Amino acid sequence: MHLSRYLRQIQVWGVEAQETIMSSTVLVAGLGGLGSAASLYLAAAGVRKLVLVDHDVVKESDLNRQVLHWTRDLGALKVESAEEKLRSLNPDVNFVLYREKLESLSRVEELVREVDVVVDALDNWTSRFLLNRACVNLGKPFVHAAVEGLKGWLTVIHPPHTPCLACILSNPPEKGSVPVAGPLPGILGCMQALETLKVITGFGKTLTGRLLFFDGLEGSVEIYEVRKKVNCPACS
Ligand SMILES: [Zn+2]
Repeated sequence: MHLSRYLRQIQVWGVEAQETIMSSTVLVAGLGGLGSAASLYLAAAGVRKLVLVDHDVVKESDLNRQVLHWTRDLGALKVESAEEKLRSLNPDVNFVLYREKLESLSRVEELVREVDVVVDALDNWTSRFLLNRACVNLGKPFVHAAVEGLKGWLTVIHPPHTPCLACILSNPPEKGSVPVAGPLPGILGCMQALETLKVITGFGKTLTGRLLFFDGLEGSVEIYEVRKKVNCPACS
């Protein structure tokens, strides 16, 4: 590893924090719009290992926002398309690829157990709640974001101290294809990468216990305090 590569961010958080980043493993669940942005910046930041999970192939309608996948990748597995770009960006990162859908708690726990932080960049709520449950059960920090249209939100869940996803969203919208303006998952995915690096290094104040709501239509950001739910099905 060449520390000089990371000079500009070492000037922000110091060598020790950079070495912590370079010894950490992050699971990026979902390689769509959020996962493209988050994994690009995590690879660029020099995490030791990125575990990439996605079951899907690249479709034409993905290309307005899933910037790791290019026109030439149509029909390719997203995990392979993503790895190719990320490896080219930073060959010092180790990649582990799983082409699968997150469908069983025991399997998700198996994946989560091996990593330091989880990035929830999924597009379906069943898998998101499984990931939340696995992180709650194993006490793993979990960086959640979601986007729709020109809006998006983000929070950091660090069990057992903070509210979990099921505390915050009791009735999530379960839909098929939602409208998304391309830059939105880029913005929220970059924020996920930043929060992940803060969780890893302890640098700054993470969004634990707070939900950041970004409204791209109005150009506004609001932050709400969130609380643990007394009878939360996942964490109480
Ligand atoms: Zn909860």
